[in-house]
Amino acid sequence: MFRLPKLGYGYNALEPYIDAATMEIHHTKHHQAYIDNLNKALEKYPELSGKSLEELLAEDAKIVPSDIKGAVINHGGGHYNHSFFWEIMGPPTAKEPQGKLAEAIESTFGGLVKFKEAFSQKAMGVFGSGWAFLIMTPEGKLALKRHSFQNSPVMRGNTPLLGIDVWEHAYYLKYKNRRAEYIEAWWSVVNWQEVEKRFLAGTK
Ligand code: MN
Repeated sequence: MFRLPKLGYGYNALEPYIDAATMEIHHTKHHQAYIDNLNKALEKYPELSGKSLEELLAEDAKIVPSDIKGAVINHGGGHYNHSFFWEIMGPPTAKEPQGKLAEAIESTFGGLVKFKEAFSQKAMGVFGSGWAFLIMTPEGKLALKRHSFQNSPVMRGNTPLLGIDVWEHAYYLKYKNRRAEYIEAWWSVVNWQEVEKRFLAGTK
């Protein structure tokens, strides 16, 4: 049984960039629904209880029967991506990437400003519902990826370091259809310490 993780901050902690109403609905309704639907799909196969999301989502995993494969990808991916999303955000700060992460961003993207531009463009370019991610490949390289729906970086063995949900439910209440404004505002609530933690864990 998968359960909704608690947020490490209040629903209003990301104001004014992400409003409390959006956060509460996103967490208690949307994320909860992915979990409920994932649990429902897995009910039929008790032998899968106790498997981790990473095990269930691995693209080459043979453990997931074909009749629930789609549900596991959509709802398991949704659970994985949202759990990750809450953690890489936090109360607004002026902090920027430090140390080895800052160096990797510099050498891969030509600096933070260029990285943000490229990442924001990726997020703007998601057609319909999906995500943009900064991932680390199994070889330890940084890359930007667009993912449709709830497809998750872990499906391909990549480690997500940073990601933005650009489904309309993530911003419509406050920003209506103005995705670019949402993306611009979202940079203020990125928790770079958490991104760095994931980067350092991935480089070990
Ligand atoms: Mn979402």
